[in-house]
Amino acid sequence: MDTIDTNESSNFEIGIIGGGAAGIFAAIAAANSNPHAKVTVYEKGRSLLSKVRISGGGRCNVTHACFDPKTFCQSYPRGSRELLGPFHQFQASDTVEWFESRGVVLKTEADGRMFPTTDSSQTIIDCLLQECRNAGVTLANNAGVVRVERDPDERFHLEFGDGRTEVADRLLIACGGLKPGKLHSSLEGLSHTLEPAVPSLFTFHIDVPWLRDLAGVSIPDSRVAIAQSKKGQAGPLLITHWGLSGPAILKLSAWEARYLYQLDYQFELIVDWLPGYSEYELKSQCASNKKLHAAKQIGNTPISPIPSRLWEALVQASGASPIKRWAEFSRDDENRIGQIFKYCRLPVTGKSMNKEEFVTCGGVRLKEVNFKTMQSRIVPGLFLAGEVLDIDGITGGFNFQAAWTTGWIAGMNLSS
Ligand SMILES: Cc1cc2nc3c(=O)[nH]c(=O)nc-3n(C[C@H](O)[C@H](O)[C@H](O)COP(=O)(O)OP(=O)(O)OC[C@H]3O[C@@H](n4cnc5c(N)ncnc54)[C@H](O)[C@@H]3O)c2cc1C
Repeated sequence: MDTIDTNESSNFEIGIIGGGAAGIFAAIAAANSNPHAKVTVYEKGRSLLSKVRISGGGRCNVTHACFDPKTFCQSYPRGSRELLGPFHQFQASDTVEWFESRGVVLKTEADGRMFPTTDSSQTIIDCLLQECRNAGVTLANNAGVVRVERDPDERFHLEFGDGRTEVADRLLIACGGLKPGKLHSSLEGLSHTLEPAVPSLFTFHIDVPWLRDLAGVSIPDSRVAIAQSKKGQAGPLLITHWGLSGPAILKLSAWEARYLYQLDYQFELIVDWLPGYSEYELKSQCASNKKLHAAKQIGNTPISPIPSRLWEALVQASGASPIKRWAEFSRDDENRIGQIFKYCRLPVTGKSMNKEEFVTCGGVRLKEVNFKTMQSRIVPGLFLAGEVLDIDGITGGFNFQAAWTTGWIAGMNLSS
């Protein structure tokens, strides 16, 4: 274990398992709020904040520019109800202020994502590690905890991979997404329930030739739904070489993560390519085209906002002829077009990660945690923060915000 000990004269021991966003943020809050506590972060890896480093394509999407906790919560498929109270304690505007007051200015992109103005995650890492040094936090890397036990005096005993042990009066587990293993078993040994880890935020594989030919085409608005459950999401859509991606798909993958896992990612997707039109309005638009564009070919006269390549491909896929003139547009063509534009059925055969961003749902059952303090309701003195909880947000800075918020609250209460 390699340690950087910056605090030598304290007797109240706070142990933090995990040197990621939640653990480091908690350590700073704990050490600043109680200078008499000895705060130690145990990190199993060689370096701290390794996910922060690779996040947001190396730029770190720190948070999202939405400063109303209620609206912010809507971006969490799991945890939206539980996070409302915490966001009233520490929300996105507090994150912005926290970093800005330490010299890190954040900027907002058009879609609301917030990044450091340097466009480098190293800026965030440098700031957090400097704050740890200022607050006297001890950082121990190469310190993977393999077992946690609580003794009759209510102290926590941590055992490391190399057989060494440490003791803590209070313990925060902020080890990120938990896979079955020794720490997982320790949490179960402490009577916590772990919801199984399941992927969230992924794109869909659809092997349909006409769709593949449209790779690169994006649609500003769509509605996508799972045929079996009818559960759906709306938003922009992107056709890729392997199927479909874009905000509508990512939201659906996140909200229905558990259900899609049960289906083994094999299901029928229903796409409404024209959610701005009711079936009746689509029929009226076709009738109007028949009058106004009688001499034009159907395939050359897209209905806005459908891009022309997609329009032509969908008309073709519907069985109607794109080279037919609108003058010859029949009732049969109307039905085919109505069906494919409003209820296009596509077979999904698998999934892929969204870029490099691998997010899982699952973790410690939320009912077992007091979200006012982030303390376990089962084990007094044990706190939980970040991705170890069964919380996950959609892409856009929401996952880090959950880590900052729950880490900060845990830190403030660990030392009180
Ligand atoms: C490629 C990628 C890009 C991402 N980009 C973004 C983004 O831009 N914006 C956003 O909001 N979210 C992003 N996310 C999600 C975000 O990184 C996580 O939600 C966030 O890091 C969770 O923080 P955490 O501290 O809970 O967990 P982690 O960051 O995973 O930290 C947990 C730490 O605990 C350590 N640990 C685990 N087990 C033990 C043990 N037994 N003993 C000691 N230490 C242990 C791990 O090594 C790790 O360092 C991204 C995720 C990935 C994978």
